Amino acid sequence: MSIEPLLQGYRRFRSGRFPAAQKLYRELEARGQSPKVMFIACCDSRVDPATIFDTSPGELFVLRNIANLVPPDSPIARLQATAAALEFAVLYLNVEHIVIMGHAQCGGAKVLLGDYEEHWLSSGYLGSWMSIATPARERLMRSSCPPGERQQQIEYQIVRLGLENLLTYQWIRERVEAGALEIHGCHFGIANGVLTLFDGKTGEFNAVPLEKS
Ligand SMILES: [Zn+2]
Repeated sequence: MSIEPLLQGYRRFRSGRFPAAQKLYRELEARGQSPKVMFIACCDSRVDPATIFDTSPGELFVLRNIANLVPPDSPIARLQATAAALEFAVLYLNVEHIVIMGHAQCGGAKVLLGDYEEHWLSSGYLGSWMSIATPARERLMRSSCPPGERQQQIEYQIVRLGLENLLTYQWIRERVEAGALEIHGCHFGIANGVLTLFDGKTGEFNAVPLEKS
């Protein structure tokens, strides 16, 4: 394909949504961004947080990587975009929430389950990156999860592990303990549109009601 469809989209944006939002864009440029929420989502083309949560420019600080992973704090993390984005969001933007969003049919999760070529795990950048989630895979394999549910369960485990890894950063842990920052996990179902939210008390994911209670 050529990039012409993209340019046509840009022209629609300039003639449609941009004029409607230009006042907001001007304000955002003048006073800078002050998003209250940071998202860590997958690069997957089907799971754009701004679309799913129907947000406006300036509302979400979004970091997307393969399989929405959070590496634990370590010297290696210093070279990773994820840790740098976390630091910027927490220490400079003072976000009040961090949300990790997993999703259905995640290709990174499939790599962890061995559904892809074995060499992806043993060599290359993708395998090295996914090794961050090895503890999630080990937890799944120790559980009695039926094979048919493994894909969704590893996606959940990745989110749970990410929430744990967030707390390995001292400046995140301190803010969470002080009540200045909340961390959340969720999972988007793609085909059915269902968003489930991680419940820290039960460890389970529950569908978000469509009617506000
Ligand atoms: Zn994914």
